[in-house]
Amino acid sequence: MELQEVLTAWLTSAQMLYFVIAAAVFVILYFISAPYGRHTRAGWGPTMNANHGWIMMETVSVLVPLALVIIAEVTVSLVTIIFMIMWFGHYCQRSFFYTWQRRGTQRTYPIAIALLATIFNILNSYINTWDVFHMHRYDASWLMDPRFLIGVSLFCLGAWINISSDNILLKLRKPGDEGYKVPNKGYHRLVASPNYFGELLEWTGWAIATWSISGALFAFFTFANLGPRALTNLQWYRDTFAEYPKERKAMIPYVY
Ligand code: NDP
Repeated sequence: MELQEVLTAWLTSAQMLYFVIAAAVFVILYFISAPYGRHTRAGWGPTMNANHGWIMMETVSVLVPLALVIIAEVTVSLVTIIFMIMWFGHYCQRSFFYTWQRRGTQRTYPIAIALLATIFNILNSYINTWDVFHMHRYDASWLMDPRFLIGVSLFCLGAWINISSDNILLKLRKPGDEGYKVPNKGYHRLVASPNYFGELLEWTGWAIATWSISGALFAFFTFANLGPRALTNLQWYRDTFAEYPKERKAMIPYVY
């Protein structure tokens, strides 16, 4: 069997595995917070520099799709080009610009968690790339379809909220500073983790614009992964800062 046929034959099984992992992550993270960032703690085995961990975890989401797109011999249309700009734009920003902007270079990350996240990101890249760029054939009429227009708009709004909220956090620290402060700008006035809210909007937009099972699974995973962490972050802010505004929600303004 050729590699293309293998990747096509495995897609449904990979999507089912992905769903099981996402559901398990959702349940587990309600009881155990992922041990990185402000929730770093001992007992998770050997660690690595957090920035190196982020680069490793995120760059596979650029490199794997790049390799798969070449193997897939994608029929390039304006629609696929727009989807590629969305995917590669997000992951180039996250892998390179965001990681270099992060402050707190002494922060560590458990190697086991970084490896699990890297493997998961390979799975995520595979199902999305293969489903969207290889299995689906979007013709020019998709450009005017309401699902495409709404999805792309939501993705762009989410990207703006995600990046601007991350930037507000990153500017709270001066070079060399490792501590935490209460953010009071932008969407941070409404929720504890607006960067996660932006991320959720982005992948929900991706799911709608691509109208694909893999896109829907990615949106589900994003909530499964970040929803429980946003609640933990909110509780952490309340426990750490007496002045933390009580009306702020965890992730979705006024709702969650
Ligand atoms: P956080 O909001 O926990 O942290 C973002 C950065 O800001 C870190 O460098 C952190 O430092 C710093 N920071 C956070 N809060 C404060 C504060 N109160 N004062 C000063 N500095 C602060 O985000 P994550 O690290 O969890 O995620 C980073 C990005 O990756 C986000 O955009 C998120 O949406 C995305 N992401 C996406 C996932 C997905 O499933 N699609 C999964 C995980 C992340 P420190 O590291 O020292 O805490």
